[in-house]
Amino acid sequence: MRASLCAARLCSSFATFASLAAVAALHTPAAHAANNDPVVLVHGFLGFGPEAFQSSGFKYWGGFNDLVAHMRGPNGEHRVFAASVGPVSSSWDRAAELYYQIKGGCVDYGSKHTARHAHDGAIQKPPGKCWTADPANNPENYPIALHPAWDAQHPVHLVGHSQGGQTIRLLIELLENGSPDVDEGGAELYLGGKLKWVKSVTTLATPHNGSSLREAMFGVMPLPVAPTEVAAPADAPPAPQAAPRQRPPQRGAKAAFWKQSVIDSVQWEMTPDGAKEFNKWVRTSPHVYYFSMANVATESGSYCCNETDRMLAPIQSVQYQYPRKDMAPLTKPYAGEYIVPSLFRPGMGSYTQFGAGRVRVDEAWFPNDGVVNTVSMKSPAGHPVREFDGTAVAGTWNFVATYRGHDHFDMVGWPRKEELTLPIYDNISKIIFAL
Ligand SMILES: [Zn+2]
Repeated sequence: MRASLCAARLCSSFATFASLAAVAALHTPAAHAANNDPVVLVHGFLGFGPEAFQSSGFKYWGGFNDLVAHMRGPNGEHRVFAASVGPVSSSWDRAAELYYQIKGGCVDYGSKHTARHAHDGAIQKPPGKCWTADPANNPENYPIALHPAWDAQHPVHLVGHSQGGQTIRLLIELLENGSPDVDEGGAELYLGGKLKWVKSVTTLATPHNGSSLREAMFGVMPLPVAPTEVAAPADAPPAPQAAPRQRPPQRGAKAAFWKQSVIDSVQWEMTPDGAKEFNKWVRTSPHVYYFSMANVATESGSYCCNETDRMLAPIQSVQYQYPRKDMAPLTKPYAGEYIVPSLFRPGMGSYTQFGAGRVRVDEAWFPNDGVVNTVSMKSPAGHPVREFDGTAVAGTWNFVATYRGHDHFDMVGWPRKEELTLPIYDNISKIIFAL
């Protein structure tokens, strides 16, 4: 009797265990995943890392929700991290910070790069800007690096929102090909040859070809550097605002890089003309899977009933775009035909630019998410691109989808848009863990 009870108990606990295991297998994406490489999320311009708003609980990735936890899965089966890089820094500086934050070590912006921007107070190795790869031996108490094992055998997936996309692309350029100036003082990051360290890149609302927002907002103000100066030969004097103290030696093929590198600023990189220079030297790697997701929060003009904000734009033209009612209030005034309230200054929804030597901005640029033109989010102009059909192809941009009715901040779930946002991140997980 006693023996049979025990057997029954054993039997029932085995049955429980077996059914639990079956349930766990059903609910664990990792069980079906082709890889479980870690994911690093890279925020955009004016973004912040997980530590910034701890008291309020507001997160860059998810607002009052937590997209990092969501992507980790209910059982924490995936390693997902939110990186924190300079909120107003150039893509070069952010890429350097991202590298050391993932791998461990102290940030080194490169000797040539720093010398060129010394007038801005650039420091090659800012003291204390370090992450430790070895928590057991960390006398300075540095934050712990996200993935110290990072190499070709232990690659990462990188996901970037907005400028985070350019940061990631520049990091891959440096990893694989090193600095265009070759010698950056010996730092590991700039040596090149680090192929296949990045398995995939996903960009969300990234202005690959720049945004007309700044042009629209500051249309009457001068650019940081006139486009004619950027288009000038490499041996022409640099723009006065960006004059370096020291000219680096020129090496023919590097001249194109020199032209863009006089401007180490996000304001420049995010213009259509600045992005064009960036896209000339920051390549699409044949070793990496690239995915892009676009979004739009404007609608074509109509005399009525198109979900747009009629208070802002009571009279509309069919050829222009107007912000939806549900667009973030911060960006609504710039997204439509006119900047509101300054009537007759074109907003992103009607802004064009046809000047000689400048990137042509035409009606294809009108649809936007309040910050970035939708047409710019697909891929860098001149780089290979295809529609994603469920089969990922490396070395080309796989354009996944345009999320309609999503503004720039809906793509990261601000302030509380889980119904709009979670499907995007589920889609990313589904794609990248199957690679
Ligand atoms: Zn810099």
